[in-house]
Amino acid sequence: FDLKNEDLVDIQELGQGNGGSVKKVEHLPTKTHMAKKTVLIDAKPSVRKQILRELQIMHDCHSKYIISFYGAFLADPNICICMEYMDRGSLDGIYKKIGPIDIDIVGMIALAVLEGLTYLYDVHRIIHRDIKPSNILCNSRGEIKICDFGVSGELINSIADTFVGTSTYMSPERIQGAQYTVKSDVWSLGISLIELALGRFPFSQSDSDDETDSDLEGTLSPSSMMSGLSLADLPVVSEDGTSGEGGGGAGYRRQKKKKDPAAAAKKDKRKSKGVSLQGGGMTMSILELLQHIVNEPAPRLTEGRYPKEAEAFTDACLKKNPVERMTPKDLLEHEWIRTSRESTVDLEAWASTF
Ligand code: ATP
Ligand code: MG
Repeated sequence: FDLKNEDLVDIQELGQGNGGSVKKVEHLPTKTHMAKKTVLIDAKPSVRKQILRELQIMHDCHSKYIISFYGAFLADPNICICMEYMDRGSLDGIYKKIGPIDIDIVGMIALAVLEGLTYLYDVHRIIHRDIKPSNILCNSRGEIKICDFGVSGELINSIADTFVGTSTYMSPERIQGAQYTVKSDVWSLGISLIELALGRFPFSQSDSDDETDSDLEGTLSPSSMMSGLSLADLPVVSEDGTSGEGGGGAGYRRQKKKKDPAAAAKKDKRKSKGVSLQGGGMTMSILELLQHIVNEPAPRLTEGRYPKEAEAFTDACLKKNPVERMTPKDLLEHEWIRTSRESTVDLEAWASTF
C-alpha cells in the first residue's frame, strides 16, 4: 500500500485513547477497510520522521496473533498509523457489553497473547509495553490479535511526555522505576485476564459507571444473605465449574448460567476478605492504586471458582518479584495453555454472540 490521507475515507469512529483516536476507514484505491490511528505528536519534524522510520519495523511483523500493519504517514501535526481492522473490537468493549468472559475463552485469549508476545520478542526483540484489554482485538473469524506495541522508542517518548491517564496495568517493578522487560508484559497480561474473567478491573470494587454500581448492589444483597455459607459453598460451585470444563464448543454457553453467580460471590468474598482498597464505593486515586500494586498482594482469581490451572497461571503471571515471574515463552508451556491449545471451544461461534 502506498497510503495517502486523501485516499482514506472515514467510515466510523472506533474509539479514543490517551494517544489519539482510531477510525474505521476505507482505502478507496483498493476498497480495503482499515483502522486508522491518529496520534498528535508535539515534536520537531526530525523526531516525527524518526518515528515514521521506526514504525516501518511493523511491516516485518507477520504473525496471526499480531495486527497487520498497512503503513504510516505524517499528516501534520499528526502521525497516522493504518492497521488491520478488527470488526469485533477490543476485549474491554466486549466484556463491558457481554459481562464476564468464560474462563475457557480467557484461556484461549491468554494463548493468543503469549504467542504474540513471544513472536515479537523472539523474532524482533520487541517488548509490547502496553498489554491491556483495549489492545487485544477480536474479529468475526474468532481471531485474537494484539496491537499498539512499542516499536518506536521515539513514539513512546513523545507520548510519555503528554501522558495523563491511568497506567494501571503497570507491574510493581515498573512503578518503582525498574527497566521494562518482557516480564512486565506478563504482569499486565495477568491483570488483563483476571479483568476479563471477572468482568471488571480487579483492583477496584466499583467502577465509575452506574451499571456496575447497581450490579454490585443487586448481587451483594442476595449473596450477602448467604455470606455465612459462601466460603463453604465455593468448592461446590468450583467442582461444578471444573466438571463443565471439557464442554468444548459450548464453552461460551455456560457464561450466563454460571458467571453471574460466580461474579457475585467473587465480589462478596473480596469484600469479606478486605482485598479491595475501597470503602464506601469510592474509587481509589491513581496514586493509591500504584501504592496498592507495590505494597499489597497481587490480585487473584477466587480460589475454587475457576479451574486450578487457570488460577495457577494467573498467579504465575502476577508474581510481584520479576525474578520469580515466568517469560511469555515459558508460559506457553504452562498446563492451562496446553489445555487451551487443545480446547475445542469455537472462538468464531463465540465472536458471533455479541
Ligand atoms: P490507550 O490510549 O490508553 O492505549 P486505547 O487502547 O483504548 O487506550 P486506542 O489505542 O487509541 O486507545 O484505541 C481506541 C479504541 O479503538 C480501542 O479501545 C479499540 O476498541 C479501537 N481499536 C483500536 N484499534 C483497532 C483496530 N485495529 N480494529 C478495531 N478497533 C480498534
Ligand atoms: Mg490501544
